Amino acid sequence: MLVLFAAAAGAQTPVSGRRVRRLIIHNATVIDGNGTPASGPKDIVIENNTIADVIALDPVSLGRGARAGAAADAVIDATGKYVLPGLINAHAHLQEERGGKPQPIEYELDIWLACGITTIRDVGSDMKRAMELRRLSAEGQIAAPRIFVYPMFGRPKTPLEATAHVKDLKAAGADGIKILGIDRDTMQAMEAEAHELGLRVAHHVGVEETNAWDDIHFGTTSIEHWYGIPDAAIEAGVQNFPASYNYNNETDRFRYAGHLWREANPERLTKVLQAMVAAHVAWDPTLDIYEASRDLQRAQTQPWFAELLHPTLEEYFKPNPANHGSYFIGWTSTDETFWKENYRIWMDALLQFDRLGGLIGMGDDAGFIYQMYGFGLIRGMELHQEAGFHPLKIIQQATGNNARILGQEDHLGRVRAGWNADLIVVNGNPLENLKVLYPTGVDEIRDGKAVHTGGVEWTIKDGIPYHVPELVSKVKEMVSQARLAKK
Ligand SMILES: [Zn+2]
Repeated sequence: MLVLFAAAAGAQTPVSGRRVRRLIIHNATVIDGNGTPASGPKDIVIENNTIADVIALDPVSLGRGARAGAAADAVIDATGKYVLPGLINAHAHLQEERGGKPQPIEYELDIWLACGITTIRDVGSDMKRAMELRRLSAEGQIAAPRIFVYPMFGRPKTPLEATAHVKDLKAAGADGIKILGIDRDTMQAMEAEAHELGLRVAHHVGVEETNAWDDIHFGTTSIEHWYGIPDAAIEAGVQNFPASYNYNNETDRFRYAGHLWREANPERLTKVLQAMVAAHVAWDPTLDIYEASRDLQRAQTQPWFAELLHPTLEEYFKPNPANHGSYFIGWTSTDETFWKENYRIWMDALLQFDRLGGLIGMGDDAGFIYQMYGFGLIRGMELHQEAGFHPLKIIQQATGNNARILGQEDHLGRVRAGWNADLIVVNGNPLENLKVLYPTGVDEIRDGKAVHTGGVEWTIKDGIPYHVPELVSKVKEMVSQARLAKK
């Protein structure tokens, strides 16, 4: 091992944002995206944008390891660090404005990278712009995660119109389609055409005409959020709304969403979950995005808001019926209590879905409801831990499982030779504490001393290494400039 590192010692630490021909991550403990245990020390050899080799440095394999040190253009010393596949955010929105006020796209892209996110699935933004950003990212012209574009489908009037619209989106270059608030007959038509054309379908299944049974019957790729799952298991077929309830009133909608899981019949729910598994309908629950409903004060006082919250986002989050998700007007301890119970049943259902063999992914839906880009995904990981999942499984959900939902599992979401070089180097052990993934770091005792540490150190996307402390400084600067300009 010493010999090996000496061979590589001449090589420099990489320059942030610059890909080299041969980059070695040296002496890392590796957590793959397939749910297997951590193992190391290992050298990961990256050639251009591909993982060329993953080499065990244990005594048995030392002879092989000697190869790794040769002729590296740059080396990242990962001694004491963990390497994971880059995180995938399966429910993201590219946002260049909030509430009509402009917000620089770099703000969101940089925070994503700083949070270790190397791939996002955009499930609704400006499609043309999303495709332009997808191209710029793929060409390495902007610092950004990979982007998969799933445009919002809208609400076609007839099945014929739905079929035609799917064809148009395919021709325009969509990677998949996001549906929301759709009628059953048009959903059936659009899904049939999407399957025909090889487009995957992400369904925000609200309390609408359709529910999880329709996803099961029509072959939805992933259910986004959750509502249509308990809704499919209600004995009376409809939730017990008060007479004054109005679905278009967000305070009403989110308040009574907090009563939805308790109204699901457990036996019926099991049948729904079993049928989802059998029909290969995955579940991307976005646990983070509802958390303000169960603990508003926690949501409003997240420590990273101090230096990293852009003023446009800050403004957008404030209670205001004009902004989607800013429904906290008259939010009560009773609402929070219902939502706490709602989460408990929801988390149990997730665990049950997993035990039945269901595919669970992860996305943060940030930019709404006090969730900051990227930070929301890491918070989601913590909530999956609260639900009862082992951190190895949670990392798999945020990497390998999401790659499967995207249909990209043959080249994304693993630390494996031949896969794309999308990796993160983490300061600390996320299996012990998922919070080490937050770019703002954690306080720890090391060698008997209190230190501020943690955070992703390097986010490597497509072989391009980004030094996270530099990204974070850039974001801080962007935020302080925007705050000054606002005064
Ligand atoms: Zn969304």
